[in-house]
Amino acid sequence: MYDMKNDIQSVLADEATLATICDRLAAQITEDYRDSRDLVLVTVLKGSVLFATDLMRRIPLPCEMEFMKVSSYGKGTETSGFIQVHLDLKRDIKDADVIVIEDIIDSGRTLQKLQSLLAHRGAHSVKCCTLLDKPDRRQVDMHVDYVGMIIPDEFVVGYGLDYDEKYRNLPYVGILKPSVYEK
Ligand code: 5GP
Ligand code: MG
Repeated sequence: MYDMKNDIQSVLADEATLATICDRLAAQITEDYRDSRDLVLVTVLKGSVLFATDLMRRIPLPCEMEFMKVSSYGKGTETSGFIQVHLDLKRDIKDADVIVIEDIIDSGRTLQKLQSLLAHRGAHSVKCCTLLDKPDRRQVDMHVDYVGMIIPDEFVVGYGLDYDEKYRNLPYVGILKPSVYEK
């Protein structure tokens, strides 16, 4: 049997830490959206799925679950890049309060474009909740409303995050050994 633990350099967030993060973010969201009449959690596939399910079961408000799969294009100085939508929402979000659930924010490009797309569809509000944030890597000026944990500029896997589609099922977030992707 091959244990994926062999490929992890160090653990950044263990299971207890992840549970505490979900408790805190869910409590904030519950307070902020207590009067919302149409709350929609938009989970960005695939990396955010484990986080989203742990988060939403801690939110006692009525809310809906939607999924999107997107990829972002655009280089360095470009501000008008576009986003390719591979899987779209199944409902109209006009007048809805949308929270985009992300696994990690790196350059910020994907989220920035996704937020403007959703705002253009007439959502009443669009906020973002991310499990992890790498602020050192940010290339666009944007505000992230709910952040689980700030991490250094390292490549991390686990709890939904992959390398080459693997490691998503690790129950914790860890730094992948560079030897895994440098070979
Ligand atoms: P950006 O913010 O640069 O537009 O894109 C963020 C996306 O890059 C994330 O949703 C994720 O797919 C990927 N990404 C960025 N940093 C990491 C990382 O450390 N580990 C993994 N597995 N994916 C990452
Ligand atoms: Mg992602």
